[in-house]
Amino acid sequence: MTDLKPDELLAKIDRNPPASGWMDTPINIKKGIYCYASNPKSVEYVGLPNVRKWNPLEEDWKLPENWQEILHKGFRERLERFRTFKIFMDICVRCGACADKCHFFIGTGDPKNMPVLRAELLRSVYRNDFTTFGKILGKFGGARKLTLDVLKEWWYYFFQCTECRRCSVFCPYGIDTAEITIMGRELLNLIGLNIDWVATPVANCYRTGNHLGIQPHALKGMFDFFVEDIEEVTGVLVEPQFNKKGADILFITPSGDYFADPGTYTCMGYIMLFHYLKEKYGLDVTWSTYASEGGNFGFFTSHETMKRLNSKMYAEARRLGVKWILGGECGHMWRVVHQYMDTMNGPADFMEEPVSPITGTKFENAKSTKMVHIAEFTADLIKHNKLELDKNRNDHLKVTFHDSCNPARGMGLLDEPRYVINNVCNNFYEMPPGTIREQTFCCGSGAGLNAGENIELRMAGGLPRANAVKHVHEKHGVNMLACICAIDRAAFPALMEYWVPEVDVIGLHEMVANALIMPGESKRTTDLRGEPLLGMEDEADE
Ligand code: SF4
Ligand code: SF4
Repeated sequence: MTDLKPDELLAKIDRNPPASGWMDTPINIKKGIYCYASNPKSVEYVGLPNVRKWNPLEEDWKLPENWQEILHKGFRERLERFRTFKIFMDICVRCGACADKCHFFIGTGDPKNMPVLRAELLRSVYRNDFTTFGKILGKFGGARKLTLDVLKEWWYYFFQCTECRRCSVFCPYGIDTAEITIMGRELLNLIGLNIDWVATPVANCYRTGNHLGIQPHALKGMFDFFVEDIEEVTGVLVEPQFNKKGADILFITPSGDYFADPGTYTCMGYIMLFHYLKEKYGLDVTWSTYASEGGNFGFFTSHETMKRLNSKMYAEARRLGVKWILGGECGHMWRVVHQYMDTMNGPADFMEEPVSPITGTKFENAKSTKMVHIAEFTADLIKHNKLELDKNRNDHLKVTFHDSCNPARGMGLLDEPRYVINNVCNNFYEMPPGTIREQTFCCGSGAGLNAGENIELRMAGGLPRANAVKHVHEKHGVNMLACICAIDRAAFPALMEYWVPEVDVIGLHEMVANALIMPGESKRTTDLRGEPLLGMEDEADE
């Protein structure tokens, strides 16, 4: 945790513009705000360029001699290849509608965290190198040369953007600054400038199929613990299946769910749901120990790396011969699948158009990707009365829901999670309107920024979200923040502990599992965390 107390961090937000213009305000890389440089071993593993040890705080970043030439060529190629990028470089009218919409600007007060200015860092070089107007007018036309300081500024600020797309919701021209960040990071990767919280997960995903580098036998071992815990709470022995050829459905979730609380409880929730569906309806779901990561860290590196990591899920679906893929509670997995998969590795014609074998519902939105989000799958089961639920078992929770940026803004998954929550718990309270649904505030730690060394940035960036949680905590006594993203489940506990310590974090399917009446279960006295259910305090102690 940062040494700064919450009051000190709040007092640090400076709303006064700097004395000098933005182009003349020098870069100042501050402790607590940046992430460590990429580990050379990881960079080498996936074949990315300029492998070496380097430190952002040192003057010499050990760049290739012709780094400007590499970036100029890379910039030109991307302007030619991506129409959106070219348009986004040209059409901003600097109206400022996006300026105060970024959680990093709100939380840090740093003007270069305004989306308009973050994009301008790149746009100014675009004007200088690729437009006649910029070449003639220079600084007066908003153009500047790509110097070493400008490059350092790119690295510093493109790794202070969680690619959450909140700013794009407010831009009258639809400019998506997250896409500009993606391009900025892609350019930086051409000369070996990444952060380690991106580079090492990418290498691990490439090597073992998940971001932690967990090997198949270790993954199975983790599930054995989950099975024991589930039996302790419910009295039911569940049997998750792995790598089963010919199963109906392949299930893929982010590996964050296997690894750390509270994601592990969500994982136990999936296992229980699939056991229930097998017992009641014969549904055959398999997990994979090879495609054991839904989250795509390649997304934070380059389009090519994103494509390479996305392909493993589909290769595994082909190998196992499943009908379609069900995906877990994840953020960026869904943005990659929903927005990029079809042109990267799809269409996935070797699978069937997803239809729920239990309700007969056709998931039209997944017709091409063949991948259904578990929130819509479960909402559909509930709607058709296919789950026996005792929502009173979540009565010890007063819940609010955080719309995770990517499922909310990237695929419009807004109502299904709410429908599920309202059917598995009695106490649900929305945060204020400007902070939910499409306008949701980011957790402050997405896009590979969920590291320990940049904790001050994370606490500052998460301030707007935490502030809205604080509001419902004070107004309604909310004690649980629900979400459908593994990064959220990893990032929010620290954020809540810092700003609203009375609120804990939960995944949607942990709540579903608490409420689910399992065939053959014994009397439940605790939730999945071993906390007594309301009115069961004495029995839970026995
Ligand atoms: S809202 Fe859009 S047009 Fe206005 S400054 Fe921001 S990016 Fe530019
Ligand atoms: S995408 Fe999100 S983090 Fe990036 S500039 Fe926009 S609002 Fe800020």
